[in-house]
Amino acid sequence: LLIGMALLFFGLALWLSHLMAREAIIPIGNMYARQREFVADASHELRTPLSVMLTSIEALQLDARTENDSFSYNVLDGMKEEVHSMTKLAGDLLRLARSEAGEFALDRSLFNLREVSESAIHKLLPLAKAKDIVIKLDAPDGLTVNWDAEKLKQLLVLLIDNAVKYTPASGSVDVRLAEGMEKGGRFLAIEVKDSGIGIAAESLPRIFDRFYRQDKARTRKAGGHGLGLAIAKTIVAAGRGTIHADSTPGEGSTFKVRIPL
Ligand code: ADP
Repeated sequence: LLIGMALLFFGLALWLSHLMAREAIIPIGNMYARQREFVADASHELRTPLSVMLTSIEALQLDARTENDSFSYNVLDGMKEEVHSMTKLAGDLLRLARSEAGEFALDRSLFNLREVSESAIHKLLPLAKAKDIVIKLDAPDGLTVNWDAEKLKQLLVLLIDNAVKYTPASGSVDVRLAEGMEKGGRFLAIEVKDSGIGIAAESLPRIFDRFYRQDKARTRKAGGHGLGLAIAKTIVAAGRGTIHADSTPGEGSTFKVRIPL
């Protein structure tokens, strides 16, 4: 059973990397509708076998533990980690393909800005706590804005997740949201600032590209595939906003978003 699982797993991995290699050479704006559909369908279809594999691996691990077979247990642990990573990749590919297919129209409604920001931070508290990182929120109380609450939450989760991932233990992450006014009208300003490893000047223009990772070895360990910021960019673009990053390597990074309201 273990050999069967391993073969199935590597087969899936091979197929997925083939898919990614084909995808990586297609520039973002030129992706044809059928290719996007294919990526969306394929990543959607991948989720079921992956979750079945996860359940099977966990069952085998129970067995290995009863038999005191630490070798099999550890091998299965490695497989579990890879399945988690592939599940995240399948989810990210699906979101990206959908957003590029224009299925990313904003779903506007009035919502409380602070509540949505708090719920985004809440999702990342376990990760932050494990690294003893404090996430601070500075957002006006009781301010209601008319935008897409779900997409704002997704965007905040992506940026805060990165801030926590790329900040060493005991660091800090500051999240600031404010409403501003300029000639063009009202806008929402978001800032996510961390005290992390930072981004090299030559990487800064590329971090929003699909599959770009600054340090492949390190970010692979942190579970990244280089799709998070590409998704963040499509969310901001759906709202005709702007996103950019400033960074000092070794000191930290600040991601700034501005969205017209
Ligand atoms: P990943 O899944 O690799 O985190 P992203 O698209 O979210 O992919 O980010 C692309 C790359 O940008 C990351 O691999 C990392 O090198 C860099 N990056 C993003 N956010 C930060 C940050 N807050 N601090 C340092 N590097 C970052």
